[in-house]
Amino acid sequence: MPLTATGISFIFMNTTGSIGDMRTFMHESGHAVHALLTRALPLITAKRPPAEIAELAAMTMELLTMDLWHHFFPLRQDLIRAQIWQLENILQLLPWIATIDQFQHWIYTHPDHTAEERRHCWLTTMQAFSTPVINRAGLDDYVACAWYRQLHLFEAPFYYVEYGMAQLGAIAIWKRYKEQGSVALNDFISALSLGYTKSIPEVYATAGITFQFSVDYVNDLAQFISKELDSLLKEQMIYSTDRENGRLVL
Ligand SMILES: [Zn+2]
Repeated sequence: MPLTATGISFIFMNTTGSIGDMRTFMHESGHAVHALLTRALPLITAKRPPAEIAELAAMTMELLTMDLWHHFFPLRQDLIRAQIWQLENILQLLPWIATIDQFQHWIYTHPDHTAEERRHCWLTTMQAFSTPVINRAGLDDYVACAWYRQLHLFEAPFYYVEYGMAQLGAIAIWKRYKEQGSVALNDFISALSLGYTKSIPEVYATAGITFQFSVDYVNDLAQFISKELDSLLKEQMIYSTDRENGRLVL
């Protein structure tokens, strides 16, 4: 939350010391930096960009800070495990967003559906974006309720897909940062500094990335994440699991 007059940002949060808390802290730091960068803009509305831009700032910050997470995880094996967790989450998030988005389009275009039809639609939609690797045999009743936990379905129809847009943008900026270093970082700062004074494609262009969702583009970004994940998994193989206490040890 930024204070409107000074533009100074604050993050209020509770933590339990979990990795999820650390990631949330990085995420909110992205929003905080965004607010600081836009504080000189004359109009308040220009400082409050829509989610596609706001979440781009936050989700990118999660990735840009990954190399510095050793401050939270002094042990190399813990650091690697945290980075793997982050990238796996991204790969899991995108099909989940697609599932929720497709399901809610059906819900709102079939307002007279029955509970049984809805259950059937959810299960087939989930199946379409899932993988046979996951065995959910005997868990149908639980799987059928999985959509209850996505509050956007109830409170913000057709909004959830915007996290998918922002996530793709965040991967693209991180990829560019890995390839070009400070050039990408400076462009990212310039893009955030625009606030809501430019259109979404213009903000993305300033960040050095494109606002698009072609199969090739999404595939390219997914391949990049897979490659990064593979190299982390390779390094993790150096470590073996100590079954006694569940910690990764050399
Ligand atoms: Zn956010």
